[in-house]
Amino acid sequence: MSRQYPIEKYRNIGIIAHIDAGKTTTTERFLFYTGISHKMGETHEGEAIMDWMEQEKERGITIASAATTCFWSPGEYLSKEKTNSHRINLIDTPGHIDFTAEVQRSLRVLDGAVVVFDGVAGVEAQSETVWRQADKYNVPRICFINKLDRVGASFEKSLQSIWDKLTKNAVAIQYPIGEEAQFGQIIDLIEMKAVKFEGEMGKDVVFSDIPEQMIPKAKEWREKMVEKIVAEDEEIMNKYLSGEEISIEELRSTLRKAVIGCKLVPVMVGSSLKNKGVQLLIDAIVYYLPSPADLPAIRGTAVDNEEIVIERHPDDNEPFSSLAFKVATDPFVGTLTYIRAYSGKFTKGGYLYNTVTQERERVSRILRMHANEREEVEEVFAGDIVAFVGLKNTSTGHTLCDEKNQLVLEKIDFPEPVISIQVEPKTKADQEKMGAALKKLQDEDPTFKMETDQESGGTILSGMGELHLDIIVDRLKREFNVETNVGRPQVSYRETIERSSEAECKYVKQTGGRGQYGHVKIRIEPKERGTGFEFINEIKGGVIPREYIPAVEKGVREAMEKGVVAGYPLVDMQVTLYDGSFHEVDSSELAFKIAGSMALQDGAKKAGAYILEPIMKLEVVIPPDFLGDVIGDLLSRRGQIDETVDRPSVKAIYARVPLSEMFGYATILRSLTQGRGTFSMEFESYERAPGNISQEIIEGKRK
Ligand code: GDP
Repeated sequence: MSRQYPIEKYRNIGIIAHIDAGKTTTTERFLFYTGISHKMGETHEGEAIMDWMEQEKERGITIASAATTCFWSPGEYLSKEKTNSHRINLIDTPGHIDFTAEVQRSLRVLDGAVVVFDGVAGVEAQSETVWRQADKYNVPRICFINKLDRVGASFEKSLQSIWDKLTKNAVAIQYPIGEEAQFGQIIDLIEMKAVKFEGEMGKDVVFSDIPEQMIPKAKEWREKMVEKIVAEDEEIMNKYLSGEEISIEELRSTLRKAVIGCKLVPVMVGSSLKNKGVQLLIDAIVYYLPSPADLPAIRGTAVDNEEIVIERHPDDNEPFSSLAFKVATDPFVGTLTYIRAYSGKFTKGGYLYNTVTQERERVSRILRMHANEREEVEEVFAGDIVAFVGLKNTSTGHTLCDEKNQLVLEKIDFPEPVISIQVEPKTKADQEKMGAALKKLQDEDPTFKMETDQESGGTILSGMGELHLDIIVDRLKREFNVETNVGRPQVSYRETIERSSEAECKYVKQTGGRGQYGHVKIRIEPKERGTGFEFINEIKGGVIPREYIPAVEKGVREAMEKGVVAGYPLVDMQVTLYDGSFHEVDSSELAFKIAGSMALQDGAKKAGAYILEPIMKLEVVIPPDFLGDVIGDLLSRRGQIDETVDRPSVKAIYARVPLSEMFGYATILRSLTQGRGTFSMEFESYERAPGNISQEIIEGKRK
């Protein structure tokens, strides 16, 4: 078997958007026009092609990432035949803010993205968050200003908000003819043509001359565009300055280079719902977004040494390497492990090596997912995105590669869970099923954690937000038939220290027989927020024998887990073991562990230990009438209002609020705004809890 499509003809892309901007509708049109989907489903009817999880349908949001393969040739709508020169793998990105870890994960495996905006709202808070993440992973982008047919839509205002909030490098390559109800055609500023969408679902794309009255506007915007594009290439720039005409091909190839280098972002317009503009968007994906071969080699590290960098090029002749980015449970085939192959090739039935679990995995089948069918494939090649069947122990973020050529591809940092609930199976039979079900769910979603409560023996689930945990409990019931009772959500507080301190513990016991002797002196210092824990050993001359040092560290770590103020883990500090002593006969690992633990507790108290609480970044969008009430309510929740922004017919409030004040906010906002307000919330940072709040936490009055 050889590859069907050269790697240069691949586009691995995702569509990302603020919830409600039109991602689902745009995806459906995308699949329709690429010829895969023959049925259109509207989101509210729950028939969106990519929303394949039952509850996603009910909630009308897309939670899970999956990948769909489709085919396209730019301009193919002008010919009778579908030529399919390019393979586009569309990677679904989740839309809800609670799942930014999933967004990050999908950004990691895609090569380019389309960012969809609501032409009325322009840039919304969540788009900013995702945009910054895309910057972090150097993802080339195209902007699509959708919903231009809506009342209040404005192309120029939306573009301005992109310039103001996201990037000055955005360049309009289209201009709408009419807006709101008048929105009908699009001017393609590269071709300098007007484009109409006719026939069923706007599938017939018709190019014509730009209407007379639009010519000045088109000229003005084309000039702006050309100036921005030519500035990216000296040769073309000189040509332009000497008055020569820059051809369409030159414009496209220069723009392509600039987009791939993340220097320019083309801005396009349309209305997915009214079937306008999506085909041109797919053209642009092929024209301007990179193929895997356009990007630098993927970098990983050696399995046993993170300092050693290993590169793999997007080449079938290199050793096979791939990253698992999504694990899903499928009722027909069991576990589906979606992977992105970076290099080499691999045939089904063979073994791959998981460098994280350090186990071999057998891949029994390979599936390529299309919108409405699954294709069995024999082999996978560099650049492919497919699902593996048969893997036993591979989770999201794991590297699967050739056993003889191992590497670990950069791991994805997931944010810490900030909220937890206790779940209890309703019956004994449920008890047995629950453990296995939770394990499966955890393989799919590494942002949720499960542990056993030391005191009650109950099961604690922690995650990124209330909705995140709701969905997990819901899936337990639906997919695994496990009924549970759920406790009240609890905030994941932390503890840390204010200043440095020193502590000493001499743990000595002489009670007949062999005694105990462990003696340590430690220094405790605060570290920057979010940097975790570091243990430094400065013992010289064997004042504590080397074999006891790990025991001291273990004691320190265990004491940190338990905290010293209210039982929450201590974080962001450095502990240096600098002195101590031992006894030839009585010293033991246990004695040093206890000494380490007691010294830490003492030292942390002396260092002014205090409680940290998670602070959330919040965006609330409401009709203006409710502004006073909603702000008043947020202030009463210890909220800090950062900004209030006017949008056509609504106000957006940006605020920072402690998570512990935000339980059940969905219900509260509904009653404050007669059901018309919406909000999204995301973890921002851990901050010191004020004195009275700390007191409530310590006394167990605040959860
Ligand atoms: P998602 O949350 O980003 O996936 O957004 P959806 O695709 O579900 O769209 C949200 C709502 O906006 C739905 O009611 C759509 O019908 C509507 N919508 C999507 N695109 C357009 C558009 O171009 N124009 C108008 N007027 N409505 C749209």
